[in-house]
Amino acid sequence: MKDAVASTSQLSVLQQKLYSARQALDDMSEDYNEKLQLLLQFIAQLSIACKGQNIELDNKLAKLRHKLSRFNQIDESLADLEEVDGILKQQYGRVMQQLEESRGSLSSIISQIQRLDSLPIKLKKEISYFKKELVKPFHTYWDYIPKVEKIVYFYNEILNEQLKLGDKFEVLPKHRQSAQELAQMLSEIEFRKEQQEQISSIKLSLTDEFELDTLLSAYQVVLSLLLDNIAKEKTASQEFLYILNGALSNVREVVTDSYSHSVKSFQVAKKLNGEINSQVDNIDGSVTDINDINHLKNQVTEQLLALRTALSRKEALENREQIQLRQSVDALRRELNELSKETENYKERLFEQQKLNLLDTLTQLPNRAALQERMEIEYRNYKRTKQPLWVAVADIDHFKSINDSFGHSTGDKTLQVIAMALKNSLRETEFVSRFGGEEFVFLLPDVSESDIKPLLNRVREKVKSIPFKFKNQRITVTVSIGAAQIIENELITETFERADAALYKAKHQSRDRVIIDS
Ligand code: GH3
Ligand code: MG
Ligand code: MG
Repeated sequence: MKDAVASTSQLSVLQQKLYSARQALDDMSEDYNEKLQLLLQFIAQLSIACKGQNIELDNKLAKLRHKLSRFNQIDESLADLEEVDGILKQQYGRVMQQLEESRGSLSSIISQIQRLDSLPIKLKKEISYFKKELVKPFHTYWDYIPKVEKIVYFYNEILNEQLKLGDKFEVLPKHRQSAQELAQMLSEIEFRKEQQEQISSIKLSLTDEFELDTLLSAYQVVLSLLLDNIAKEKTASQEFLYILNGALSNVREVVTDSYSHSVKSFQVAKKLNGEINSQVDNIDGSVTDINDINHLKNQVTEQLLALRTALSRKEALENREQIQLRQSVDALRRELNELSKETENYKERLFEQQKLNLLDTLTQLPNRAALQERMEIEYRNYKRTKQPLWVAVADIDHFKSINDSFGHSTGDKTLQVIAMALKNSLRETEFVSRFGGEEFVFLLPDVSESDIKPLLNRVREKVKSIPFKFKNQRITVTVSIGAAQIIENELITETFERADAALYKAKHQSRDRVIIDS
């Protein structure tokens, strides 16, 4: 009985323990499930965070999230978990490779930035420090993003720097062309002595590499120098007119004075003549009326005295008048001398100016305006005499390449030497002018049809034989020439056009030749 009681209590203890153990197991299982739930939630969140890297991965993760949400079927998701694990490993490899490639492209961007001129020193240092930093590999995108931000910062700094430098525009071929044309124009315009230094330095600044600002300010300076010259010329003309006007009003005054004086003198002289006449009449009357000889004697003596006084007054008047007249004439002569001196002066200046206007300043050959004048003269001669008259146009071959290879000022010197050679190859009656640029026009009267080609070939050969030497390089410069003879009922401008067309042919037949229009 005792044993039975002991067994019952033992059983009850065991039951108690079992109950506690089950309780503990339930608690544990509940705890485990809670933690698992948390972990699954965490995995789901993590998978959302991974989204966007790889479509395949995104799809698998979505599927996995769906399966994990059904807690009681969790076992089914194990296979997916394994698959996702494999893709994740691959993805990691790919990300590392991408990061490495990105690091490479950042390095090449930074090398490009370093090649930019005019970087401020501080920025240069920063950039080269940054480049050293870039040598270290990236482990995550978080290593990469700040580097990109830094490069954006560098670009920003450079941009600000460029903006600070002001509006430096690129010099385009059309600007170079304008600069060449301006330099050429400057060679053709006659500037005053005191302006020439300024003009030379402008020409020099336009020959080598120049900035757009230089070209603009060159235009500005040239314009103001020209305006200044026009104003000066206007003032000089005005001064001359003032002097002329002054001199003329002096002459007018002298003339008016002498006129009014002579009117007065005429009146006085008339009065005196009247007095003298009446005294002579008186004497005449006395002689006929008076019988007493003594009385007559007294009367005549008295009248004669009055007459003498009147005559001496008349003489004095005439003398005074003579002196006044001489003075007036002297004054007039002086004025006229002054005036003619001024006029001479002005005429000389006009003549100089006219001469300058007809000469090309670079080559000292007659210019286009002079050609125009000479063409009219030769044309009239031709009309009158019907002697042959030729117009020839010469153009230097490949002249642009001389400018391009040796500079504009060498080009200028070449033009001067060739111009001189052309001039020296002609007779006195023959005429050559600089038509513009590297083109020359000849007027050749009295040359027969058989002589024209040899004549122009001699001119061509003369240019070709000039021993040019640029930068220690022996250069041969050639010209192409086209010529035409004026024909009946043709205008000389038409002859010129035919000569120009012949030149065009010469250029197309490989240059360095003479073509006569026929
Ligand atoms: P082509 O044989 O076809 O005539 O060739 P080219 O190079 O001589 O002819 P193009 O018309 O292409 O160029 C003429 C050049 O002459 C361009 C211009 O810069 C140059 N030039 C014109 N006038 C002057 C000048 O006064 N001084 C200088 N240095 N160059 C000039
Ligand atoms: Mg040419
Ligand atoms: Mg030309």
